Amino acid sequence: MSNLFHRDLNADLPRIVSAQGNYLIDDTGKRYLDACGGAAVSCLGHDHPTVRAAIKAQVDTLAFAHTGAFTNQPAEDLAKFLIDRAPEGTGQGRVMFLGSGSEAMEAALKLARQYHVERGDTARSKVIARKPSYHGNTLAALATGGHAGRRAPFAPLLIDVSHIDAAYDYRMRNEGESEEDFALRMANLLDAEIRALGPETVMAFVAEPIVGASLGSQPAPAGYFKRIREICDAHGVLYIADEVMCGMGRTGTLFALEQEGIAADITTTAKGLGAGYQPIAAVIAAQKVTSVIEQGSGKLWNGHTYMSHAIATAGALAVQQVIENDDLLARVCELGAQLFAALSARFKDHPHVGDIRGRGLFWSIELVANRADKAPFPAADTIAPRIGAAAQARGMMVYPSQGCADGTNGDHVLLAPAYTSSPQEIDIIVQTLADAVA
Ligand code: PLP
Repeated sequence: MSNLFHRDLNADLPRIVSAQGNYLIDDTGKRYLDACGGAAVSCLGHDHPTVRAAIKAQVDTLAFAHTGAFTNQPAEDLAKFLIDRAPEGTGQGRVMFLGSGSEAMEAALKLARQYHVERGDTARSKVIARKPSYHGNTLAALATGGHAGRRAPFAPLLIDVSHIDAAYDYRMRNEGESEEDFALRMANLLDAEIRALGPETVMAFVAEPIVGASLGSQPAPAGYFKRIREICDAHGVLYIADEVMCGMGRTGTLFALEQEGIAADITTTAKGLGAGYQPIAAVIAAQKVTSVIEQGSGKLWNGHTYMSHAIATAGALAVQQVIENDDLLARVCELGAQLFAALSARFKDHPHVGDIRGRGLFWSIELVANRADKAPFPAADTIAPRIGAAAQARGMMVYPSQGCADGTNGDHVLLAPAYTSSPQEIDIIVQTLADAVA
């Protein structure tokens, strides 16, 4: 019996006691190949020597100095590292380091509000996001997420957010519609929603450049984000890019948005930032936002005790330096091409796999009862969790998600292996997934 809160309070979970490379090992000695990095977190496996050494060295130097009065070197170095590599257009912005993706999303929303208030645009408070999407579990982040079922029990506590459809190719692109037309049609939903709400009341648009947990790994159609950028600029709305899951190399570039040729006004990132070695998230604000605040109140209207924690930032800096020094972005692209080819070979004609989608080392399969009409499996079949359990029984972890109860999407299974995976491990992952699906 555990005294911890788990997602399933009655589950008897394996107890992980150690890790080796991309494997987790439980107290019975069973080994689990981590094919999803938890939830796209562990991008350098579980025992990277350089990262461990950097954390140990920081523990022996400085753990914590309150940011109310001090700054510290690893946090400054990591902030500079991120600003120097953020998509063109970010400029000389600033970075806030927090403990989780949800905190980062809260802080991003508050920063957007502060930007408008400092400009005298106090009527701007409305947020537009997409469905499906997931942006975290704290109240504003939960309100922003596009999953009605998750929001429902907390409805009285949530800020009002409107949701437009995400550009979900498999189910929303019309027969014969070109990618370009689809991109424009979906992006223009934002323009219509801003106009409907009244542009002078809208504060921010929130979207993941590649939809993660809620859709597996859904890239946007080419041109979508360029049009989103135009629409936000035309209406004075800030674009918040949630790169909590898709950022820090997961899709083959450090920031997923680089591949869309635009910069966000505020970017959040988390999982691949610390790679699970430390709990850490970042909010990166573009110069456009920070210059208003610097020339305005000069204060951040937000704060957390553990902001810019020295051990967390030292660990994350080491992670990012390993990714850069070991040329792992190129490796993500190579292994990603191998993974996609292997998934296609296995599942392209599978009667219950409707879609294979992703980018970099971020791939998922969508499961359908019937390929012809794309009918999802009934929720009661719990197909994705059963595939997750079947994989786990075979010694491999995947990230399964059930579709929304309203049938807008099917169940899917997400793969997000470490950037340090071997080609053999990629083969094992696809073979084991095929066995689990069968
Ligand atoms: N945003 C996205 C896109 C996520 O995938 C998640 C977590 O899965 C979050 C925000 C919330 O992050 P956390 O669980 O660290 O609070």
